[in-house]
Amino acid sequence: MERGILVHVQSQNRLLLGPGPSSVHPEVLKAMATPLVGHLDPYFLEVMADTQSMLRQVFQTENELTLAMSGTGSAGMETVFVNLLEPGDKVLICICGVFGERMKDIAVRSGANVLTVEAAWGQPIEPEDVQAALKSSSGVKAVAIVHAETSTGVWQPLEEISRIVHDYGALFIVDAVTSLGGIPVEVDRLGIDACYSGTQKCLGAPPGLAPVTLSPRALDVVRNRKTKVQSWYLDLNMIANYWGEDRFYHHTAPISMLFSLHEALRLLLEEGLHQAFKRHAQNGDYLQRELQAMGLQLFAAEGFRLPQLTSVIFPDKYDEGKLRKQLLEDYGIEVGGGLGALKGKAWRVGLLGHSSQHRNVTLLIQAMKQMMG
Ligand code: PLP
Repeated sequence: MERGILVHVQSQNRLLLGPGPSSVHPEVLKAMATPLVGHLDPYFLEVMADTQSMLRQVFQTENELTLAMSGTGSAGMETVFVNLLEPGDKVLICICGVFGERMKDIAVRSGANVLTVEAAWGQPIEPEDVQAALKSSSGVKAVAIVHAETSTGVWQPLEEISRIVHDYGALFIVDAVTSLGGIPVEVDRLGIDACYSGTQKCLGAPPGLAPVTLSPRALDVVRNRKTKVQSWYLDLNMIANYWGEDRFYHHTAPISMLFSLHEALRLLLEEGLHQAFKRHAQNGDYLQRELQAMGLQLFAAEGFRLPQLTSVIFPDKYDEGKLRKQLLEDYGIEVGGGLGALKGKAWRVGLLGHSSQHRNVTLLIQAMKQMMG
């Protein structure tokens, strides 16, 4: 086929075991193909209200401001930073991987005065380091941290850090892009003030929406800004009027994406959050035991390993890139390569959402054994 000739897109029948997107349940794809209604159609407004209510359950929050931003997880990240921060505000960013770095980049672009706390890749952020940073610099408005660092596979404990952040009167921002739906994200119990996610990981929908929730305290900060939010598209003051009672037009909602998220959330809640966490835990444990039994080393520190995202190191005798290519071409299985310091050395295997199934682990392990001899 010559380049430039239009053909239908074709299903490649892939099993997605990378860091996202994950494989999507057929019912979610079916929901996406539902004929369109208008974005102010009464039926669509009901779908939006249901979606908000299901998102509150999944975020484990009562927060009124809970909605899905148009855009991927990074749009959720940017929404939280541009709405909460004004030029000159002090923000403390915790960095132990690529996504902490991205938060810093966005905070700098927001004109904030950015301080950082760092940990080595593969390790979580230590609460004492957050405490020391807050003690040595007064007036920090917000502290931001990644719950599930997708570049390393580290599960960041939040409880103690949240307590410290609130002791210093700061807002607590949590990136739950890879955690929401896979491990508990207890927004209210942990006093998280702003939390965002993405649809293509453990929520099991295609990429394209970013669930966001803000505590009443964080919403107050947004409502009482001295300056306008620098992004028109991501301004929650306006978007809340579309998702709220008034239903003011802001931008045309991505209708089909919202249909897909509605179905993905419905399936998740039908399974039950507790059961979904258990499934992710069991399959992650199965994968990590099998990889270690093959003599491979896991990158994330023991005791802090995410069940839904595993970084595994390959000894020098293997060409991880070649193996990954072979896995895709011969077995139809996608896994991710290492990022940053792990580039060319590791795989990132995701068991996210609908991809987290026992038989998927068995398939992957058998394929690896065949390829690696
Ligand atoms: N934060 C984390 C922890 C992520 O894993 C990702 C994506 O992998 C993002 C943010 C950005 O999300 P997206 O790629 O959907 O924009």
